[in-house]
Amino acid sequence: MNKEVYFKILKELPEGVKLAAVSKFHPMESIEILYAEGQRLFAESRVQELMQKYEALPKDIEWHMIGHLQTNKVKYIVPFISMIESVDSARLLLKINEEAEKIGRIVDCLLEVHVAQEETKTGWNEEELFSYIQSTEFASLKNIRLRGIMGMASNTDDVERIKEDFRKLSRIKSSLENCFDSSFDTLSMGMSQDYREAIEEGSTLVRIGSMIFGERHY
Ligand SMILES: *Cc1c(COP(=O)(O)O)cnc(C)c1O
Repeated sequence: MNKEVYFKILKELPEGVKLAAVSKFHPMESIEILYAEGQRLFAESRVQELMQKYEALPKDIEWHMIGHLQTNKVKYIVPFISMIESVDSARLLLKINEEAEKIGRIVDCLLEVHVAQEETKTGWNEEELFSYIQSTEFASLKNIRLRGIMGMASNTDDVERIKEDFRKLSRIKSSLENCFDSSFDTLSMGMSQDYREAIEEGSTLVRIGSMIFGERHY
């Protein structure tokens, strides 16, 4: 846990860029330390851990889900989640809508877009995304508020490749804007290793874990 780094990152963020502190695999105490400094937005990647932390910690924390979400677990987080950033399929979005409808909530979501060179990373590609946005199925999801997209750059030291990936995400987000109202305002990209490049390319939400909290112990 490094508070100095946390404050340094906060100072670097241009206006309009938010920080999600990625607390996955880190103890409640670390979250409480940042909470005491005013941080309210935290991100987690596993449902069980997220629920335990939600239950134990102050209720004005905004929780973002950033990890792969199984449809059978959607119901556990829909009551309290403030944003699901990692929506990687139409099936998942449909399920979130269904659970949200049951309890009369509208859930903020991002679609996770795949631009990185690794095959393993999940998410929508550009064509799938555009055709889905125009589908009648998507239009019928009344309990989803689509706030934007989330993505990751390739896992490489090649800074030009990283910037290129972020530019692509930025371009996709811009070209989708005219399908939505002004609530489509979020471009979530940038992690510990590449958040500066992400901000240069237009990120509005960086997700930073290890730089603030230290290494994760799996
Ligand atoms: C873990 C994770 C992060 C944070 O990564 P760090 O390198 O620790 O900053 C950001 N985004 C996603 C989707 C993650 O799974």
